Amino acid sequence: MCGIVGYVGDRNAYPILIKGLHRLEYRGYDSAGFALVGKNGELNVYKCKGKVSALENFVEGKDVEGSCGIAHTRWATHGEPNSVNAHPHYSCTENIALIHNGIIENWALLKKALIREGYEFKSETDTEVLVNLIEYVRNTNKCSLLDAVRGALKQVIGAYAIAVVEKGREDEIIVARQSSPLVVGIGEGEYFLASDATPIVEYTDKVVYLQDGEIAVLTKNKPLRVVNFDNAECPIDVKKLEMNISELEKGGYKHFMLKEIHEQPKTIMDCLRGRLSPDSYDVILSGVRDNAYRFLSARRIIIVACGTSWHASLIGEHLIEDLCRIPVEVEYASEFRYRNPVLSPEDVVIAVSQSGETADTLAAMSLAKAAGCFVFGICNVIGSSVARASDAGCYIHVGPEISVASTKAFTGQVTVFAMIALTLANTLTRISRDRFEQLSKALLDLPALVQAELDTLDAPIKELAEKFKDSRDFIYIGRGYEFPVALEGALKLKEVSYIHADGYPAAEMKHGPIALIDKTMPVLAIAIPDALYEKTASNVQEVKARGGVVISVVSNDDEMVSKMSDYAIRVPVTDPCLMPVLVSIPLQLFAYYIADAKGLDVDQPRNLAKSVTVE
Ligand code: GLU
Repeated sequence: MCGIVGYVGDRNAYPILIKGLHRLEYRGYDSAGFALVGKNGELNVYKCKGKVSALENFVEGKDVEGSCGIAHTRWATHGEPNSVNAHPHYSCTENIALIHNGIIENWALLKKALIREGYEFKSETDTEVLVNLIEYVRNTNKCSLLDAVRGALKQVIGAYAIAVVEKGREDEIIVARQSSPLVVGIGEGEYFLASDATPIVEYTDKVVYLQDGEIAVLTKNKPLRVVNFDNAECPIDVKKLEMNISELEKGGYKHFMLKEIHEQPKTIMDCLRGRLSPDSYDVILSGVRDNAYRFLSARRIIIVACGTSWHASLIGEHLIEDLCRIPVEVEYASEFRYRNPVLSPEDVVIAVSQSGETADTLAAMSLAKAAGCFVFGICNVIGSSVARASDAGCYIHVGPEISVASTKAFTGQVTVFAMIALTLANTLTRISRDRFEQLSKALLDLPALVQAELDTLDAPIKELAEKFKDSRDFIYIGRGYEFPVALEGALKLKEVSYIHADGYPAAEMKHGPIALIDKTMPVLAIAIPDALYEKTASNVQEVKARGGVVISVVSNDDEMVSKMSDYAIRVPVTDPCLMPVLVSIPLQLFAYYIADAKGLDVDQPRNLAKSVTVE
């Protein structure tokens, strides 16, 4: 949450900052702003409520010259999303400006102390406290800006990625990180900084991922300097950025969400590539293979995740228990971290996060590590905090996911869980070689089946969405492997269309939710050919008997449930344990087309942001 970007060098900073903000807008869009240090050292801040495009209109005709600047797109935590609370924040004298991603937890105490020293505050943010604290340390100790930043951060409790500029210093930006992501791009005598690498990729492929507790000094035409809070020099690990600019563009689609839904045949293939051999059907996940003994001797596996990743983890639980017979529990990372869980060094904890920056998931990982558990990470963003904090792990390799509502990361996570389960089941000889090869082959066939679905279902689902776009509520039901898919389908609908939707295990309907059924409460029922098909069919009957409207997701050759339903979405069939991938595709399309039919901002739904770096 919150995107930060910066530039110092010889180019004009403004276009780089604005383009970077557009790339980072998925991280927050409550307000946007930037600060520029002009060539005579003047420091100007421009900011306003709303999206980056509003900021562009706001500065039209204004002087935005300057080769040193920092910019921010906000997801508000402290203080209303308005122009005053927008970043950057000036210090009291307007000598220093700062942008911040994260939360300063002890802001109230620090603010009180600063007010006693005569400081005045304009905004309600925690961030303004930090910029004033830096100024206070700078003036009281008559120290350098770097020492002032260090001194201030030593007093701060919380999570942050910050960038600081100062009047009169048109060649320098100081950045620091504690629990929120920050990447520095190194060019020829110039530096870039951002919350992720997407604003940097077209200028340089040399990046440094700042570590917690590090402060970097970016000075034009000077080597990068990184120190810790005690001013000791830190080693600088320059990495090569592997990212393709076309992955960051819409490529002809109306929205990133639709593009990402349609990318799934490719992204699932990318996830399988080099790991599942199309010749021998062997699965090689080195992170699992090299640590197989940890998994195989595990007392249990605990999966921690949030949101869509939590739903993918529930499917992971089914897969691992089903195929490997190892006990698995799935926990919301946000609950797990605060509930004193019983953990032992014999436990394996799998942390799942698309961005690899989810604050709650990272905190859950620290708890697990402190208890001596083996921690395995599943994430998408290379070099992210989850990747770095894990003992071993596996990337889902689905490319940058820009849409706030996750789609391709979900199917990538499920694909990775299937490969983990297959690797462990094979090593434990819990499944026969025939079954192993059958499932490996089914995994390899998934991309073509997803493509077939997209080819046949896109247009009819768009039509169906028109019919249901004015619904107020929805219930999604499924059983077994399909229950988490029902949860995920309902979440997608909520996120992008603002229609209230609940997911239930189909058999739970009669324990309460069936009371809601009438003709205004559509039910989306997943009834694909598996061991529970007949039972789900009965659940659909029960809904129909009470006058409910049913959309069913059934197999291509279904006869029974499709007949009972008002509408049927037909999908191809594979092994039941991989059906979640095929069933989730039409549910993604359905949520997308309803939101689009309602004219909503699909890629940036209200109140949401991607990469949840705050608690
Ligand atoms: N706490 C800061 C604010 O509310 C930054 C928020 C964030 O990073 O999400 O402005």
